[in-house]
Formats: sequence, C-alpha cells, structure tokens
Amino acid sequence: IKGIYGVSYKIYDEKMRQKTLDEQFIISNMKRALKNGQFKVHFQPKYSLKTERIVSAEALVRWEDPDRGLIFPGDFISLFERNGFITDLDIYVWDTCCKRIRQWLDDGNKIVPVSVNVSRTDIYDPNLDKILLSLIRKYDLSPEYLGLEITESAYTHDSDQLIGAIWKLKRLGFTIEMDDFGTGYSSLNMLAELPIDVLKLDIRFMQSQHHKNSRNILSFIVSLAKLMDLTIVAEGTETIEQVELLRNLNCDVAQGFYFARPMEIKAFEDLLRKQAET
Ligand code: C2E
Ligand code: CA
Ligand code: CA
Ligand code: CA
Repeated sequence: IKGIYGVSYKIYDEKMRQKTLDEQFIISNMKRALKNGQFKVHFQPKYSLKTERIVSAEALVRWEDPDRGLIFPGDFISLFERNGFITDLDIYVWDTCCKRIRQWLDDGNKIVPVSVNVSRTDIYDPNLDKILLSLIRKYDLSPEYLGLEITESAYTHDSDQLIGAIWKLKRLGFTIEMDDFGTGYSSLNMLAELPIDVLKLDIRFMQSQHHKNSRNILSFIVSLAKLMDLTIVAEGTETIEQVELLRNLNCDVAQGFYFARPMEIKAFEDLLRKQAET
C-alpha cells in the first residue's frame, strides 16, 4: 500500500532521475552534436525604437537533437561552463556569425552588426583576444561588426583580470555590451571601470514596470547611460505598453517578443531583405 508520501517520493525520484539522465545525455553527446552540426545559431533582431527598423541581431544557440527536438540554452550552458565545453561551443557560434557577415558583405547586402554571447568562462581565458582576432582576420571583417555581450554577473569585487580582458577587446575595436545590466552587485562601479558601448537592461526591468520604484530606477539608468554616451537596449520587450514606456524614456533599442522572437538565420535574412526594400 502506498500513501500519499509514497506517491510524491516517487514523482520526486522520477524528476531526479530525469535530471541526471539529461546531464548524462548532454555530456556524452555534446562533442558529437557539435561535430555533426546539431548546434544551430538563431538570430533575434534588435529594433531601433525611433525608426522601428532592425539595427542589429543577437546570436542565440539551440541544440537540435534528432530524437529530443530543440534543446534550449537554459538546459546546457551552465553545464558547459562547468565542464569547459562552452569555449568550443562559443567559438563555433562566433565563427558561424563571422562567416555569415562575410557572406552578406560578399553578396553586397545591407548588413547589421551581430552580437554574440561571451560566457564568463571565456572572459577569463587569456587567449580570448587572440581567438576573436583570428576569426576577424579569417573572414577579413572589421571588428565593429561583432558585438560582445558580456554578462554583468561576471564582474565581482576582484575583477582586475576581467577589466584587463575587456579593455584589450575594446582596444581591438570590438563593441562591448554589458548584458543583464542591473542584476549584479556593483553595476555602478562597473560603469566607471569598464569601456562599455552598450547597456543591455536585464529582462527583469521590463517585468517589474508596474512598480513605481522600478520605473524610477529605469528612468534613472536610462538618463545615466545617456550622460555616459552609451546605447541602451531593453531586453524582454513583450507588450506595446512596454514599448511606449521605453519610447517615453528615450531608450534607443528594444529586443523582445513584441518585435520578433529568435529565428533561424535564413528567416532573419528574409526580414533584413524585406526591410531593405522599404
Ligand atoms: P541572454 O543573453 O540574456 O539572452 C536573452 C534571452 O531572452 C534568450 O533566451 C531570448 O530567447 C530570450 N528572450 C528574448 N526576447 C524575450 C522576450 O520578449 N521575453 C522573454 N521572456 N524572453 C525573451 P535563450 O535563447 O533561451 O538564451 C538564454 C541564455 O543562454 C542567454 O541569455 C545567454 O545567457 C545564454 N546563451 C544563449 N546562447 C548562447 C551562446 O551562444 N553562448 C553563450 N555563452 N551563452 C548563450
Ligand atoms: Ca545576451
Ligand atoms: Ca540578458
Ligand atoms: Ca559611445
């Protein structure tokens, strides 16, 4: 006879088993998946709030497993950061983006810069600047076409190494974007110490705008960023109300489901082409 607790334990066990199974699945399949081209780069457009035109894109990785379907980064990135595989995957994503930009240039298309995610693990790799520079050279690109999104939470009180690494990238000409801004503990110190071009407001700012205090903080950050000559990108923009609020605050760029979801690169290219016609 099984009581209620027996049942719930069983469910719990099932979940635990599922989780370890998944980690096992991920670890034993990641290398082959990368080699077989199962990691796909999707692009999500970023829109100017003034013109409503696409001004850039963020590259977001997905894992297309033939049996399991689409696996999202939330399920594997942190594991890859722990086991070191993130560097291989990120280099693949960056290479894919650079190759694509080269193709746009060769085809004579109107292009927009593409931003890639740089994991906190990558940032502490002493070869990061050489890796990125060699990609730029491989495809003969100007570094300004590549935005580097670095998460704010990589910055801690003891960040001399991180500060040095970011300055090196900045000097090479890459656009430095601070991702998830407002989630860390030293956002303002960071603004003083790092050569940042773009502030990406964390998605939580958009989700908390019904609180008056949150609106005040958002308005303050946008003013501060303007004063510092930074471009502001609001992530997670889902509704017309949010778009109007951002416009009233004079925010520059928005990214989110209201405008477009992340999509296959081909679909993104169609969108760009359509835009070029108008
Ligand atoms: P992120 O860099 O903050 O990326 C934004 C996430 O928000 C993406 O989730 C995107 O699909 C999602 N998003 C975009 N618009 C909206 C919206 O309007 N509403 C909501 N609720 N969500 C929206 P995704 O693609 O699942 O990626 C999750 C995280 O995984 C990323 O957060 C990033 O930290 C990481 N990631 C994704 N691709 C890569 C990659 O190639 N390399 C590395 N190192 N990390 C990656
Ligand atoms: Ca990002
Ligand atoms: Ca973010
Ligand atoms: Ca600037």
